[in-house]
Amino acid sequence: MAKLTVNDLDVAGKRVFMRVDYNVPMEEKDGKMVINDVTRIKETLPTLKLLLGKGAKLILAAHLGRPKGKREPSMSLKPVAEKLSEMVGKPVQFVEDCVGPKAEQAANNLKNGEILLLENVRYYNEEEANDPVFAEKLAKLADVYVNDAFGAAHRAHASTEGIARVVTKRGGIAAAGLLMERELKFLGDELETPPRPFVVILGGAKVSDKIKVIDRLLEKADAILIGGAMAYTFRLATGHKTGKSLVEPDKTDVALAALDKAKKRNVQFLTPTDNIIGTPVDTGKLNKKGKPVFEIQNARLNSSLEIPDDAEGFDIGPETAKRYSEIIRNAKTILWNGPMGMFEDPRFAEGTNAVAKAVVEATQKNGAKSIIGGGDSVKALNKAGMGDKVTFMSTGGGASLEFLEGTELPGVAALSNK
Ligand code: AMP
Repeated sequence: MAKLTVNDLDVAGKRVFMRVDYNVPMEEKDGKMVINDVTRIKETLPTLKLLLGKGAKLILAAHLGRPKGKREPSMSLKPVAEKLSEMVGKPVQFVEDCVGPKAEQAANNLKNGEILLLENVRYYNEEEANDPVFAEKLAKLADVYVNDAFGAAHRAHASTEGIARVVTKRGGIAAAGLLMERELKFLGDELETPPRPFVVILGGAKVSDKIKVIDRLLEKADAILIGGAMAYTFRLATGHKTGKSLVEPDKTDVALAALDKAKKRNVQFLTPTDNIIGTPVDTGKLNKKGKPVFEIQNARLNSSLEIPDDAEGFDIGPETAKRYSEIIRNAKTILWNGPMGMFEDPRFAEGTNAVAKAVVEATQKNGAKSIIGGGDSVKALNKAGMGDKVTFMSTGGGASLEFLEGTELPGVAALSNK
């Protein structure tokens, strides 16, 4: 069902309560919290400018980190207000609460075209509990509600779902922001009837995280290419040795079911035929969580389907990368979620980089629509300097995965229909 968006709204003189994703990485420097990456702030600017241009009184709400219901000063959004002010080129007021008299007064004092950022909504446990009384308190600040935080839309929290329900119940409007609208377009509408061939690339750590996505995409895709550690569960399921690789032995049945479904539906379902492996050696040290730290030694190519007992698979090999790249280059629609290997270590990044290159080539030379489904594949593409060469990169991790599974996101479901 199509949702109302900020383009449909008349907001002149109205208090627009907008949920944004300002959960930015921060670091303490000389006793002050500094923002390391402003991408998430930058991405909200188009919606912000549109609403300000229409004469809205803009009230922004967000969460930062996991303060677990306490006022944790290192998780205050105050530095974000300062940064946003620089980026939007006008003052951004900040109030040290998100509900109650102080917040209400600050919101009511706003003039048309002014911006107010509220303090971290997760300073209250009621936010994540989606407490109805707390949602009512948030809604006191809103004439209109806008959600532009796709990355938080898979959680039914008070500032994402609860407040939208309150506002619409009293006859008001809850609309999607421009960023949210783009996410729904590319991860939703564009994949409904994708131009073919439709090639899906799935990687990452666990089969269990992606099995629902695999199952759903088996109904739509022409080819599914598997990489990352989850490929080893498929390898184990088909009777091969996986050495010390990250596998989920209790998921071999779902892996076999996926292979079977692919065969029945005539979907090309490929798993790696060669790998870059390494030997994990215990350093005798413990990490912060008290777990033993391993060093990966002797990174090398393994061209067989059998991985030696002392070794662990960390990337797809060059033959697999070549095979996958050829299929990707001919695609007209590409969906990619999850890296092909442990790309954070340059010794195991080549498979992911080769796939990234093929995705960019398909986009630029074959006119393919390339959609990157959030999380680590976005990090990997940015790391390889190719982030701006694909059609769309999702800002959601868990949210994009749930959306691709076909689950209705509570933060989206609560918005007003067109
Ligand atoms: P996910 O969040 O499920 O997309 O998984 C991403 C993480 O999986 C990244 O941090 C990768 O380093 C990791 N990963 C990918 N392939 C492997 C592998 N073969 N062995 C261990 N970790 C891997």
